[in-house]
Amino acid sequence: IPEASRQMMEAHDLLKKFYHHLLVNTKEGQEALEYLLGRGFTSETIEKFQIGYALDSWDFVYKFLTKRGYTDDILEKAGLIIFRDRDEKYFDRFRNRVMFPIMDHQGNTIAFSGRALGDDEPKYLNSPETPIFNKSQVLYNFNNARPHIRKKEQVVLFEGFADCISAVRAGVENAVATMGTALTDLHLKLIKRNTDHVLICYDSDSAGLAAANRAANMLAEAGFQVKASVMPDGLDPDDYIKKYGEKSFISDVIGSSLTYMAFKMQYLRKGKNLNNEGERIHYIEEVLSEISHLPNAVERDHYLRQLSSEFSLSLDALEQQQRKIFFAEK
Ligand code: ATP
Ligand code: MN
Ligand code: MN
Ligand code: MN
Repeated sequence: IPEASRQMMEAHDLLKKFYHHLLVNTKEGQEALEYLLGRGFTSETIEKFQIGYALDSWDFVYKFLTKRGYTDDILEKAGLIIFRDRDEKYFDRFRNRVMFPIMDHQGNTIAFSGRALGDDEPKYLNSPETPIFNKSQVLYNFNNARPHIRKKEQVVLFEGFADCISAVRAGVENAVATMGTALTDLHLKLIKRNTDHVLICYDSDSAGLAAANRAANMLAEAGFQVKASVMPDGLDPDDYIKKYGEKSFISDVIGSSLTYMAFKMQYLRKGKNLNNEGERIHYIEEVLSEISHLPNAVERDHYLRQLSSEFSLSLDALEQQQRKIFFAEK
C-alpha cells in the first residue's frame, strides 16, 4: 500500500472511533442516538457496525485530524475535507449526520456514508471516489459476511445499509449491500470468488424491483444461481423487519425466495392486465424469451409446461415459438 493510502486509512480509522464516541458518549450525539434507537437500531448493532455521529460543525474534523499531523492534501484527497474557493478555507464534508463507516474487504476503514437525521437532502452523503475508495468495487459488510457466505454457500444482496444491518441482526449474517449504485462486474467477480448463489433482497418499491430485475439479469448472465425475495406493499427489508419482526423476515422473506424464473414472471406480470388478449400475448412472448435464456433443458421444459397449462396453449406451439426466439436473439 502506498504511504498516502496508508495515512488516509489511518485517518479514517481515527475518525471512525471519534464519530462513534460522539454518538454513544456525548450530549452532542444524543439526538442522533435517539434517532437510531427510534428506528430500531440496538446498542449492539451500533457497536458492531461502529456507527457514529458527525458534529454540526464546519471544521471539527479538519482540526481534529490536522492536530494529529495529517496534511491538508491527504485529508482533501481522502474526501474528508473540502476546499471552498470562496473563503479559501477547508471545511468538513460531513456535518450533523449519522455516520456509517465503510470497510474494505480486509477491514480497513476507507470511506463513510452519512445519513441526514431528518428529511435533509441528500438523505445519504457518501465519500467521493478516492485512492482508497471505489464505490463500484466495495460491498458494505463484506468483510464480516465473507466466512458466512462461504459456509452458507450463498450471499444475500441488499440495496441499503439499514437493510443490511437489520438483516444481520435478524440472523442473515451473509448479508452485503451495494453503495447506493448499480451492481458492477467488479462486484460480481468478488462474489464469484466466494459463492455461485445470490439471493437478491432489494426494496419492493418500483425502483427497487426494477433494480432487482437488472441485477438478476446481470447475475444470471454471469452464471450465478439467482433467487429473489419480494416483500409486500413496497416495503424495504428494514421496514419489513420493523413491521413484521425478524422471525417473519427469516421465514416469509428469506426462506420464501422466488426462483429466478418465478421472480421474472412476477415482475413481467406487474402492471399488465392478463385478461386483455394483447397484453397476455405480450407477456407470454416475454416469458418465452426468458425461458430461451435458461441453460437447463429440464427447467425450460418445466416452465413451458407451466405456461401451457396456465394459458391453455399447446406445448408444441410454445416450444416452437421459444426456439424461434432463441435463434432470433442469437
Ligand atoms: P433509510 O431507511 O435510511 O431511509 P434506505 O436504505 O431505505 O435508507 P433508499 O432510499 O431505499 O434508502 O436508498 C437505498 C440506498 O441508496 C441507500 O442505502 C443509499 O446507499 C443509497 N442512497 C439513497 N439516497 C441517496 C442519496 N441521496 N445519495 C446517495 N446515495 C443514496
Ligand atoms: Mn429504495
Ligand atoms: Mn430503502
Ligand atoms: Mn429504509
